[in-house]
Amino acid sequence: MVRESSPPAGRSLSSTQVRAIQAAMRLFVEEDLTESEEPSRRLYCDACQRAQPAPGFIRYCRYQICNGCATEYELAQARGLTGSAGQFVRDRQFGETFDLLDSPEFSETSGYQVSPASS
Ligand SMILES: [Zn+2]
Repeated sequence: MVRESSPPAGRSLSSTQVRAIQAAMRLFVEEDLTESEEPSRRLYCDACQRAQPAPGFIRYCRYQICNGCATEYELAQARGLTGSAGQFVRDRQFGETFDLLDSPEFSETSGYQVSPASS
């Protein structure tokens, strides 16, 4: 229950953990490709606001997010840095790099919790 106002750095991930998440996200691409998703088809990514290759798109609530952005989102989630997909999408749309911890909007995001370090 101790929550001090130290900089909310989140957890840091080992390179192994990062690679595991990236590998898991790549599976979505491969799965889409085996399900005859056309590699050349493109979808609009709500996060980076660009047309991106359709295979690997992930749907979060009402957003569709390209594989690259989704990977970034999952990494941020794993580090305890982000709340909802909507928050992530808004942040990307404003061209922010993923450093939204000072955002006052965060208090409105009910899903956001700083995971206490287990030490
Ligand atoms: Zn994207």
